[in-house]
Amino acid sequence: MRKKVFVLCVLVLLLSFFVSAEKAREGLKVFISVDMEGTGGVIHWEDVSRKGKDYDLFRRLMTQETNATIEGALEAGATEILVRDSHGSARNILPDVLRPEAVLLRDWSDGPLSMMEGIDETFDAVIFIGYHARAGTPNAVLKHTMTGTIYDVVLNGKKMPEAGINGAIAGYFGVPVVFIAGDLAVCKQAKELFGDIETAAVKEGIGKAAKMLHPQKAQELIKKKTTLALKRLKDFKPFRLKPPFKMEVTFKDEERAENASWIPGAKRTGNTSVSFTSNDFMEVLKFFKFAM
Ligand SMILES: [Zn+2]
Repeated sequence: MRKKVFVLCVLVLLLSFFVSAEKAREGLKVFISVDMEGTGGVIHWEDVSRKGKDYDLFRRLMTQETNATIEGALEAGATEILVRDSHGSARNILPDVLRPEAVLLRDWSDGPLSMMEGIDETFDAVIFIGYHARAGTPNAVLKHTMTGTIYDVVLNGKKMPEAGINGAIAGYFGVPVVFIAGDLAVCKQAKELFGDIETAAVKEGIGKAAKMLHPQKAQELIKKKTTLALKRLKDFKPFRLKPPFKMEVTFKDEERAENASWIPGAKRTGNTSVSFTSNDFMEVLKFFKFAM
């Protein structure tokens, strides 16, 4: 009998330890995925390519926009911030210029989480900055979907920009998208998918040209909107799609579709398109990873 009481006491002690450990983290844990095409000032592929003459300028602006987001998050009470460099080489953000309050995730593991690498269910909110509209969007800066080879991605009947796919990944882990910064076109696409999230349109496309906010103004707006979004965190719900998950990828050329059609479980649905269906969203992401 005594032994039972002792075991019970130990269990109660352990439970109270875990409850207090959980309570100890009262601040917000924020995940920031940073792309580059939607950074204020950026207009051309050369701006976002290592080989471009002005790349150093734009990677600095990308880092400053990230810092503005971090500052906004800190002001709203964030205590843990993970920044995922999500563009090209994933080695764009300047580590020494980045605010020290954040942890930076660089390079690709080649896993299916891609631009959302590092996300898990312990995060409170997801933020996208430097984002761009999906392939084929009019009046949008450097629009594309993941690679230059994809014409369109449709997930459970919805046309998806990268923000949509990444938002669904966040939703898979139960984390809501609360704020997006980029051009006006991606802000509109994000609202269509996620509802009334906060947005910061730092530029507005006119064909492939664009009107730009001054980088300083863009960064002020991003900081302000980040704080605003995190302060109304309870208004946002994770973007959860319902199983079965069906993804259809249409490529710009037929050869890509031919290659992707050999992925186990994939179905050729047209000259340039392939689809994949599963009740496990992670399986769909794996298909997408290999199809690209
Ligand atoms: Zn990019």
